[in-house]
Amino acid sequence: MTVRPTGEAAYRDGSGAFVPPEVRVVRGSELERNLALRVDACVIGSGAGGAPVAKELAEAGLSVAMLEEGERHAADDYTAVPRDMSAVLYRDAGQIATIGVPPILLPLGMTVGGSTHINSATCFRTPEAVLAMWAERFGLEQLDARELDPYFRRVERELNVVQTPPALAGRNAAAVKRGADRLGYSGDFVYRNVRGCVGSGVCNFGCPTQAKQHVGITYVPKAWAAGATTYTGTRALRVVCEGPRARGVEAVTASGRRIEIRCDVVVVAAGTIHSPILLRRSGVEDRSGEIGRNLSLHPATGVRALFDEPIEMWDGVPQSYYVDEFANEGIMLEGAAGTPDWIATSLPYFGELHHALMQNVGNLSQFGIMVSDSSRGRVREVAGLPVVQYGLDRRDTLLFKRGLEVLSEIYWAAGARRVYLPVAGLPELGPQDMGALRALDLRAEQLSLIAFHPLGTCRMGADPAAAPVDAEGRLHGYEGLYVADGSVVPSSLGVNPQITIMALATRIAYAIAGKPAPVDEPHPEHIAKPKVSIAHP
Ligand SMILES: Cc1cc2nc3c(=O)[nH]c(=O)nc-3n(C[C@H](O)[C@H](O)[C@H](O)COP(=O)(O)OP(=O)(O)OC[C@H]3O[C@@H](n4cnc5c(N)ncnc54)[C@H](O)[C@@H]3O)c2cc1C
Ligand code: SF4
Repeated sequence: MTVRPTGEAAYRDGSGAFVPPEVRVVRGSELERNLALRVDACVIGSGAGGAPVAKELAEAGLSVAMLEEGERHAADDYTAVPRDMSAVLYRDAGQIATIGVPPILLPLGMTVGGSTHINSATCFRTPEAVLAMWAERFGLEQLDARELDPYFRRVERELNVVQTPPALAGRNAAAVKRGADRLGYSGDFVYRNVRGCVGSGVCNFGCPTQAKQHVGITYVPKAWAAGATTYTGTRALRVVCEGPRARGVEAVTASGRRIEIRCDVVVVAAGTIHSPILLRRSGVEDRSGEIGRNLSLHPATGVRALFDEPIEMWDGVPQSYYVDEFANEGIMLEGAAGTPDWIATSLPYFGELHHALMQNVGNLSQFGIMVSDSSRGRVREVAGLPVVQYGLDRRDTLLFKRGLEVLSEIYWAAGARRVYLPVAGLPELGPQDMGALRALDLRAEQLSLIAFHPLGTCRMGADPAAAPVDAEGRLHGYEGLYVADGSVVPSSLGVNPQITIMALATRIAYAIAGKPAPVDEPHPEHIAKPKVSIAHP
């Protein structure tokens, strides 16, 4: 049995990045004529779902065209200034929000690598309790931990998933860990997909050292090496079907040219918000009536705390530590550090309080609360634009209240002077004020929320009357039409989803190529073992 190291040496080792022999990119923004292509497979989207599918299909010998609405960006383009980089790497500069109570900011990546390009690199496998719940509720018995293990190992090797060393985790994580340890709460340093990370703290705005192994610099170049081509600045308009058989894709480029692709395999991997819209616009038959529904978000928020000691939260890995003591209740606490300019724009306060916190920003700590949601939303296209409806239900609101209480307690135990809540009407607490928080009848509209993990709008399930796609990602009732991205994940996971999405996408690609599961992937020395033994709805 081969073992892959996951410790400090592997984390700090910057060698081993893949360099493709050729950059096979056609820039849609520069295309001056219409194109007609004939390939074996067209993959729409180059994120956590699309990139692994494109690479695995190309390596299996299929000719592959990968369409990506965003552009390709590399470290030379990065300024590390959040405001600049949001406009470059995020869809609509990261300003998309849900409609509902409360409105929730919903940032999405739009570049080669999709949201993995701007994510925090946190890696968790799908908890076994969640897989068991999928078997029971959605008839997905084949997706058990033993079946998925070779695909997890393959993804983790491709991305170099390794554990953050304490020395790079930063003082923000150290403060929260100190508080959690004093209260006896369980937690661990985050496993991340990096090579040679130096803790520069700007993972969400383009990793300046290319240490973060997002799929745009791992899977996509490997797809090129196997002959695939990425068409950037190219938006898929619709999937073309003849009856129940996929026959191709119609796309438009940023220069206004048309690309028509004829192929026998279409893999829709445009992400949880855009895949259902594309399928509906294509007029596919949906016997389940579920395309675009069942949207879960893992809504999240941040608590801040002021310390007497310097924290300088921009120094170190921003999401380097998690507290899983409350994971079985549906609450994960994860690092949410950032640079001062980003903190200034994301604090949910104004006037005096905002000013005071920014003046003391060097002593400020920030940590996140993520809820495994039972609330469900819906995605539709209205006047050519995606509309995301989602309201926070009572259960999830109460989970936030519990999360605010336990994170505040952790901060007090760590020695914080003041705690700042994302709650209208109760923005600030002193050590004696916990009674006010406990007594609060928290309403959803009082919370400032953000969500990074939309899932479920084309969920997998055995029953075509209840779920749009089967366990192999095939649209029920169709031949050659697959979905492979966050939209197929049937429920909230309780942990960050990129490894789940990539493992499912890899398995879907293997099924399309008719290949058995990989047998020779190395076993990781260690993996994250979050305390999730209960699945949430
Ligand atoms: C700021 C942030 C931090 C995150 N941190 C983490 C983390 O630390 N760990 C973790 O596990 N997860 C994290 N996530 C979530 C994770 O990155 C996503 O769940 C994952 O990338 C989703 O994969 P996907 O394939 O569904 O969509 P994406 O990765 O978003 O890829 C979809 C791609 O499709 C393209 N596209 C859309 N429509 C079209 C079209 N019509 N034609 C052509 N292309 C199209 C988009 O431009 C995009 O590039 C984070 C997300 C964000 C936004
Ligand atoms: S902390 Fe810095 S070096 Fe490490 S992955 Fe994030 S941006 Fe890259």
